[in-house]
Amino acid sequence: SIPLSFFAGIGGASRAGVLIKGSNYMETLASVDTVVFDKTGTLTKGVFEVTAIHPETIEPEELLHLASHVERYSTHPIAVSLRAAYAHEADDCRVEAVEEVAGHGVRATVNGHSICVGNAKMMESIGAAWHPCERKGTIIHVSIDGVYAGHIVISDVIKANAAAAIDALHKNGIRRTVMLTGDAKSVADQVAAELSLDEVYSELLPQDKVAKVEALLRQEQGGKLAFVGDGINDAPVLSRADVGIAMGAMGSDAAIEAADVVLMDDDPLKIAVAQRIARKTMRIVR
Ligand code: ADP
Ligand code: MG
Repeated sequence: SIPLSFFAGIGGASRAGVLIKGSNYMETLASVDTVVFDKTGTLTKGVFEVTAIHPETIEPEELLHLASHVERYSTHPIAVSLRAAYAHEADDCRVEAVEEVAGHGVRATVNGHSICVGNAKMMESIGAAWHPCERKGTIIHVSIDGVYAGHIVISDVIKANAAAAIDALHKNGIRRTVMLTGDAKSVADQVAAELSLDEVYSELLPQDKVAKVEALLRQEQGGKLAFVGDGINDAPVLSRADVGIAMGAMGSDAAIEAADVVLMDDDPLKIAVAQRIARKTMRIVR
């Protein structure tokens, strides 16, 4: 039978905004010594603002227009943000054959033209000659019929509690804090430095994130590994970790499903809170 103090611990955690899906995860949480974070939507807000538009062949407004139409059906934070930046109603664009490529971007046919919207990897995969560009932000490249058409610079902000969250984990005795991201190295390194993360790995595809977590799991010496994500592209990593922690408010349904622990208000500081509750509960149980 499950000791009563587990229920008290799970109840206490839920009052703090942390949903723990079972007593076994309480035990795992108590022995976590590595916390691996996804970047977008987890340590950053996942709400991007357009900070610059650099077209090569068309007007700036037209570049944003094309990108936001290609992103019409995507739930990725970048897509949501680009749509919000192009608020023009009622233009009758014909968008067909939409295909989202995880870790790359989205391609679609708009009014008969093949448009790709994504990162450098995506441009390289179709042979469009993108140019090295401004590094202050996440770069979204656009191609029209295989020809490079320019890029949009967008930028996200770090969550208010992110630095305090990393600090609290280090104070709780966490051995390593790691960030994994599909975003560019320049953006990733800046966020990692600002938050004093121990390690950062960038430009990863979703399958690279799984491989990285597996490598980190092999390096564990008796401790447990937690992965924290919003589930956009990272549901497989959430299930691979010893304990998968999902953002509940902005996160995807797939994440909430795949996770063992859900942070109801997306506050990364709650990871340290959950860990303290778990350790206290385990001291009572043992
Ligand atoms: P993160 O690891 O930061 O959560 P993702 O793995 O979701 O990021 O995406 C990695 C990169 O792939 C993004 O930084 C972006 O360059 C590109 N990308 C992914 N989805 C889209 C999209 N819908 N539109 C444009 N670019 C995208
Ligand atoms: Mg993500």
